[in-house]
Amino acid sequence: MASYKLLLLPGDGIGPEVAAGMQVVLEALKETGLATFETETDLVGGCALDAHGSPLADATLQRAKDADAILLGAVGGPKWAGVAYENRPEAGLLRLRKELDLFANLRPAICYPALAEASALKRELVEGLDIMIVRELTGGVYFGEPKEITVLEDGSKRAVDTQVYTTAEIERIAHVAFDLAGKRSGRVASAEKHNVMKSGVLWKEVVTKVHAEHYADLQLEHILADNCAMQLVRRPKQFDVLVTDNLFGDVLSDIAAMLTGSLGMLPSASLGAVDAGGLRRALYEPVHGSAPDIAGQDKANPIAMIGSLAMCLRYSFGLGDAADALDGAITDALSGGARTADIAGEGTNPIGTRA
Ligand code: ATP
Ligand code: MG
Repeated sequence: MASYKLLLLPGDGIGPEVAAGMQVVLEALKETGLATFETETDLVGGCALDAHGSPLADATLQRAKDADAILLGAVGGPKWAGVAYENRPEAGLLRLRKELDLFANLRPAICYPALAEASALKRELVEGLDIMIVRELTGGVYFGEPKEITVLEDGSKRAVDTQVYTTAEIERIAHVAFDLAGKRSGRVASAEKHNVMKSGVLWKEVVTKVHAEHYADLQLEHILADNCAMQLVRRPKQFDVLVTDNLFGDVLSDIAAMLTGSLGMLPSASLGAVDAGGLRRALYEPVHGSAPDIAGQDKANPIAMIGSLAMCLRYSFGLGDAADALDGAITDALSGGARTADIAGEGTNPIGTRA
């Protein structure tokens, strides 16, 4: 029987709450005898900062490198609002993604039949919605140098973030998107802003070339990221696989989340390159953050976290049937009426300060 080493990093806020919900499923999975899962738990984010003075201890990073897959809850919260930028909880997660070279972030936005009423849009616009957002995760403006705030002569400040993409970075994310599309409807939309950004010009050029050379049988459409945001709200079912950069992917996937009913519904996989032995590093986490506004109130929706475990079974362990069964169980639970507050109402998330 195959044996897998899982590292659990519950993190902060509702992270540990949704991780606990996921662990119930993991325990049930262990009992099926499908595979052996060896689990280890560690700290990341604010809780790691409190315990070790760093949001990602070197020992934790090593454990992450040794694991077959990582399951992470969420990091951050108001408690750490005042800490130095380099030490903020999110820096721990960014370092983890960067050190493991987890460049491909897969964010499926699926509208479950029972939740069509909970969507921010009308039922006919979202019923049957199944979009796979492929977000580049280790490049772009979140990592580009220089990245700084300098004080000018008159005492005012100047802030700089730099968007950087190389051919190789765009090529590898394009391959992930087209490979996924080949197993789905065969359609890829690539979102950038080549009209105002040089990185957009290169993005469009490279995606076009990868398509022509390797995936000419698939359909490729280029779309400006702002138009894409509008189209996601206007007619979301036109999209199947949507590939985009780090920043646009962050924003577009939050829009997609609201189409499904709640941020609490969206799982994600962050994948590295496949190595010579056929293995790839991978981290699975809900798209949502630590939701401090509802933390500790037993209100958190664990579906994004449970869905992240399903993605782990599918993409890291090749247990597609088990992943299908788990996704089916989520569908059934929702059809049976299981609801957390964020998906209980109509329209939009009824809880939370920003709802
Ligand atoms: P981050 O910057 O870490 O992505 P964020 O600012 O996007 O964080 P979240 O923490 O994701 O914010 O929360 C956004 C809103 O969605 C909050 O009102 C929160 O309560 C709600 N929310 C997020 N996750 C869940 C969940 N699992 N269940 C219920 N509500 C959630
Ligand atoms: Mg967010």
